[in-house]
Amino acid sequence: MNAFEALGLNEQLVQAITDLGFETPTAIQEKAIPVLLSGTTDFIGLAQTGTGKTAAFGFPLLQLIDATQRHPQALIVCPTRELCLQITNDLETYKKHSKNIHTEAVYGGASIMMQIRNLKKGVHIVVATPGRLIDLIERKAIDLQKVKYVVLDEADEMLNMGFRDDIDFVLKNTINRESTWLFSATMPPEVRAISRNYMDNPKEVTVGKKNSGNVNIDHQFTVVPAQHRYESLKRFIDFNPGMYGIIFTRTKADAQEVSERLSKAGYDIEALHGDLTQQQRDKVMGRFRSKNLQLLIATDVAARGIDVDGITHVINFELPDDMEVYTHRSGRTGRAGKTGICLSICHSRESYKIKSLERMINAQFHKVDVPSGKEVCRKQFFHFMDKLMQADVSHGDYETYMPDLMEKFKDISKEEVLQRVAALEFSHFLKYYEHADDLNRADIRGERRPAERSGDMNGSRKERTDYNRRDSGYTRLFINLGTKDGFYKASFLQFILDESDLKKEVLGKIDMRDMNSWIEIDKAEAGKMISAIDGKRYNNRTVRMNEADGGFKRPNDEGGRSDRAEGRKRIYATKEKRSFR
Ligand code: AMP
Repeated sequence: MNAFEALGLNEQLVQAITDLGFETPTAIQEKAIPVLLSGTTDFIGLAQTGTGKTAAFGFPLLQLIDATQRHPQALIVCPTRELCLQITNDLETYKKHSKNIHTEAVYGGASIMMQIRNLKKGVHIVVATPGRLIDLIERKAIDLQKVKYVVLDEADEMLNMGFRDDIDFVLKNTINRESTWLFSATMPPEVRAISRNYMDNPKEVTVGKKNSGNVNIDHQFTVVPAQHRYESLKRFIDFNPGMYGIIFTRTKADAQEVSERLSKAGYDIEALHGDLTQQQRDKVMGRFRSKNLQLLIATDVAARGIDVDGITHVINFELPDDMEVYTHRSGRTGRAGKTGICLSICHSRESYKIKSLERMINAQFHKVDVPSGKEVCRKQFFHFMDKLMQADVSHGDYETYMPDLMEKFKDISKEEVLQRVAALEFSHFLKYYEHADDLNRADIRGERRPAERSGDMNGSRKERTDYNRRDSGYTRLFINLGTKDGFYKASFLQFILDESDLKKEVLGKIDMRDMNSWIEIDKAEAGKMISAIDGKRYNNRTVRMNEADGGFKRPNDEGGRSDRAEGRKRIYATKEKRSFR
């Protein structure tokens, strides 16, 4: 009997699994599928991405759906658009032989009208990001009454992103839910609270150790003076010629800056951050996924939900502030049985964090030195020579030229040919690293930085070195909408971002009160947000948005009350009344 059949999956699913080439169930699939197929057991799966968890809940869901009933029976909530699309795509392949099951992905940043139209046609499984889901509920465009199964995927990420209220709301309003399945890489207290409040005696399964990093990942760190961060990054990239990696920075500005410097220096790198349009983002991701781009540099927010196979290195250009984030970053490598390296570039003041990380992920970190210039050259040299040896000469009519070539080289030895090839390929490299500093030493101030790798040999000295600078250019905006308008923080965020077509990264703190809210925003984007939102109609009244005077003065805004009372009765009003199950 096929191993998947033995778990209780039906013929159509087993056929799809065979088509996909999956031979044996992964650990999470083995443990989850038989339990989830019952349809009535609550379930917690502590599993990272890359463990096969999508299939672990996807197969049972597809089997439990009654295709004859065309209304949402299952709801999968996940943190990002990328993940939402990925889950939907995976379900499409899994249901290849299961006839007439319809799925729909609903997420922000795409036409809501189109999603509403598709939902109206009658779908069985909805895969949603929280903000858009709440919006659809508000518009009464989605009916949760008959939803039997709710899956919360990457629950810890959703809570990190501030979707706590939205998750509460969804769970409170799926009153006919028969089971809730929660998947999370980590189990912080907020996730535990969800299980306590909304789940009934859940079966808990952990793949690997709790809060542990993947065993296939080699966690490395290097300690360098702050002024050598960038140069060290470059050394590590040069030292690993076959690197296919993601570099994480804490801020968008750092991602942008490092990416610009590296690509100017000839590296194959692109930044992924909130300033990109969805189209640009998809293009970058497409290139990276198809391995036409070697390096991606991203902030944590922008990289959420990225799932690419074969990543050899994750590099923390800076350690994350939140240690839990480390697990998410490192989990991008060492997937599907492959090994990977997660390298953190630390400042000496940060090295104490390594100890806490070791405790948290229950794995040992290895300290590595920044390679010397000589080591980099040697590595590059032999990498090139290996490539030379492996060059495919089986195609192409080289024979025709051989007699002439032999004649040309008749007085030159093999050693000399090799030297010349090396000189041709490596002169710029050797020159660049000829006087390279030892970056592990704090007494080298980094002023005498070698020129960049490309033809542009003078640009580097002028460039900034302060990569620890945080975004600080915020201003505060006032808006006459608040929680009385039925907003939770996450839905409010979604609203202002959708309206203004801006990205979350431009925002700072959001302070919501009953009637008003204050939004911290990158100064450069404030005007765009004001002109998109100020004067708009919402709940039959005019929305006012302006720069908050001095940041803390609360404008007197009691005028909208009567409008509010008459305003559209929103589904949020039910949130206190309707209790769970
Ligand atoms: P996930 O953890 O859901 O992101 O899955 C990670 C990768 O593993 C995906 O590319 C899946 O297609 C693949 N995968 C899932 N289940 C199996 C399996 N049983 N055997 C081999 N590959 C699998």
